[in-house]
Amino acid sequence: MKDDFKTLGFIGLGAMGRPMLVHLANKLPAESQIYVFDVVEKVVDEVCAEFPNRVFKGSSARDIAQQVETIVTMVPEGSHVRSVYLDPEKGVCSTDISNKLLIDCSTIDTATSLAVKDHIAETFPSASFYDSPVSGGVVGAIKGTIAFFLGCAETDPNVERLTHLASLMGKQIIPCGGPSLGLAAKLSNNYLSGVIAIACSEAFDMGMRSGLDPRTLAKVYAAGTAQNTIADRFCPVPHVYPEAPSTGGYKQGFKVQLMKKDFGLALDMAKRVGSQNVLGEVGLATYDAASKDPRCRDLDSRVVYRYLGGDEDWQSKMNGTS
Ligand code: NAD
Repeated sequence: MKDDFKTLGFIGLGAMGRPMLVHLANKLPAESQIYVFDVVEKVVDEVCAEFPNRVFKGSSARDIAQQVETIVTMVPEGSHVRSVYLDPEKGVCSTDISNKLLIDCSTIDTATSLAVKDHIAETFPSASFYDSPVSGGVVGAIKGTIAFFLGCAETDPNVERLTHLASLMGKQIIPCGGPSLGLAAKLSNNYLSGVIAIACSEAFDMGMRSGLDPRTLAKVYAAGTAQNTIADRFCPVPHVYPEAPSTGGYKQGFKVQLMKKDFGLALDMAKRVGSQNVLGEVGLATYDAASKDPRCRDLDSRVVYRYLGGDEDWQSKMNGTS
C-alpha cells in the first residue's frame, strides 16, 4: 500500500486543498514526491518552500499528469474541473494518463463529473476517475477530520487505495455506491442541512418573539421531535451553544456563498432525476439573497438567522445581562 503513492499530484491549493496537501506532505512515506499546481502561483511557491525536496512545482495540470501516478483535484466549480481535466492543451487528459488514479474532491454538479469520467473511460480505459467530495469545512481540513464520500462501490478494486489516501487527510470514508454518487450524497446532505438551518432560524425566531429564552427552546428541540445537529452544535442563534459559529459572530464555518452554490447544485440534480422538492426554490432564493447581503456575505451559512431578522442581542433583553 505504501508503495502506491510514490508520486502524487495535487491541483487546487485553496482554503481546503492546501491543508489537505499539508497532511499528505506530512504523512506519506519519506520517499513519496508530490507535484502541485494552482493557477495562483504564489500559493504553489509557498507550499514548495514549506516542504523542500518533498513538494515540487508543476506548470500546468498536464505537467502534473506527466510526473505522477495519482492526482487529487480540489477546485471550486464544474467549469474548473472541466478545465483541469479536459483543456486540450493544458489539461490532465491532454497527455497519456493510462493506468493513473484520478480523484476529484471538488463539490460540483454530477453531470460534469460524469462527463469527465466518461471522457476518461473512452480515451484512457485503464485510467480510473472518481468523485470524492468532502465535508467538514476548512477547520476539519486543517485538523484532518473531514469526511470523504467516495463515488464507488465498496467492492471497487481501488477502494482500498482510495480509503488509504483519504485516511491521511480525513476520518470517515464512505463508499457511496458508484460513479457520481459521492457527489449525489454530498449535495443531498447539504440540501437537508441548508433547509434545516432556515427552519431552525424561523422556529427559534417565532419562539423568541413569543417570549421564550432560546436556551429553553434548544432544550425543548433536543428533547422533542425537532432534535437536529444544526439546533444543537451549529445553533443559528448566538450564545446558545458556545462553540457554534454564530457565537463567534458567524466567522468560522461554512460560507453562505458555498451553501448557496451547493443548494443550487442539489436543486439541479433533483430536477435532473425528477425529484420534487417544494422547499427548494424558496431555500435557494433565501441563500442567494443572504449571500448578496453585506451583513451576511462571507460568514457562516447559519447567518441566515440574521438575514431573516432574528434577534442576536437576546441576552441583554431577556436577562438584563449582555
Ligand atoms: P478556494 O476557492 O479556496 O480554492 C480553490 C483553489 O482552486 C484556488 O486556490 C484556485 O486558485 C484554484 N483553482 C481554480 N481553478 C483552477 C484551475 N483551473 N487549475 C488549478 N487551480 C485552480 O475553494 P475551497 O474552499 O478550497 O473549495 C474547493 C472545493 O471544495 C469547492 O468545490 C467547495 O465547494 C468544496 N468544499 C469547500 C468547503 C469549505 O468549507 N471551504 C467544504 C467542503 C467542500
